[in-house]
Amino acid sequence: MFNSVSSSIHTSNLNKNTNAKSAFVTSPIQKPFVKTQTVNPSLAHMNYFLGGQAVSFKGHNCSTSNFRVVRLNDVPCGCCGMPMLTYKQNQQLCLEATQKSGSDLAEFLQNNKKYFRGNESAIANYIISEAQKDEMTDVSSIISHADVDTHEIFNNENKRVLNNVKASLLSNHCRNNEINAYVDNTIAQLNSEDNVNFKRNNFLSGLNSLLNSNGDKELKHQVLDRAVKLPVSETQIERFFEKYSNASTTKIMQRLLNPATATAEHIQPHSLKGANNTANYLGECEECNSKRGNYDLNNYWMTNYPNMPESAQKNIDYVTDKIVKGELGDKYDDYPVDLQKALDNQTKGQIKLKVLTPEEIEAKRQETKKEEEQAA
Ligand SMILES: [Zn+2]
Repeated sequence: MFNSVSSSIHTSNLNKNTNAKSAFVTSPIQKPFVKTQTVNPSLAHMNYFLGGQAVSFKGHNCSTSNFRVVRLNDVPCGCCGMPMLTYKQNQQLCLEATQKSGSDLAEFLQNNKKYFRGNESAIANYIISEAQKDEMTDVSSIISHADVDTHEIFNNENKRVLNNVKASLLSNHCRNNEINAYVDNTIAQLNSEDNVNFKRNNFLSGLNSLLNSNGDKELKHQVLDRAVKLPVSETQIERFFEKYSNASTTKIMQRLLNPATATAEHIQPHSLKGANNTANYLGECEECNSKRGNYDLNNYWMTNYPNMPESAQKNIDYVTDKIVKGELGDKYDDYPVDLQKALDNQTKGQIKLKVLTPEEIEAKRQETKKEEEQAA
């Protein structure tokens, strides 16, 4: 899917009202695909994240790969909210997958479901169902199947995610008839012959506006967290099967897990003089980082990941806990406040994080120390 960083596709995805032309790819992994374009400064204000306003970041200088947040296991992505993998975890999982087949493989993938993003989850679920049929079959032999029906794989995943959305509405006792009908009708559409017209972004923006007018923030958060797991496109799944039909299990697994790998996103893009320091970094999975790179972020953010404000909060809560525990070294006490300011600035108040100040972090650290001493 990263090949989609082409200007023709990118332009068609832009919000037509803004005419903003920008193609920023900030993930280091994306560099081979980057097409650098300059931004017309008069258009810069139209994009939240590309705001271009001078933000004075504190932080401490470090490269994106030295940003310690990307070395923590399972940090929630600041954009989609799903847990991220470190490179080490990624390599380990790829290695383990090469040693498994049949129901053992199915169980392994099932246990690591949280690391597969939308399209990848569709493919992983296909591998699981095929592995359950044959004890001898492994990842590379399943992907090499000649008779694979990518439309069915895509459609099955859409149905799976929407049934999870439905389950979330039920468990949260949602009594809003409009929301329930919206989800039910979409599931019915996916079950019918007419399922080719389903569009992820249209569905998400419709759901988001219904949840907004409903007003229940917790319901919105829980429902959107599930809904953003919808696969991105059938074409991309098709391309995957074309490209990997003769690939090794390691190569296939790397391709399926790389989107979940933790990266440092420049909040103010590097190409707009965004600083290489901790105060300008948000931990994001490679999938979100690379997508944000070539979309109009305002449009992209609202339609692809409407739960980003909550995800960014989840991210900083997790990271703050590690800072208090001393797992990020002594330079990170300012990070939560820096991140709060950077996101507030660059989103013009759309993301307002609740964070601990360095003093509060220190107080918490002392408190924990005391508790440990008393326990000992
Ligand atoms: Zn993400």
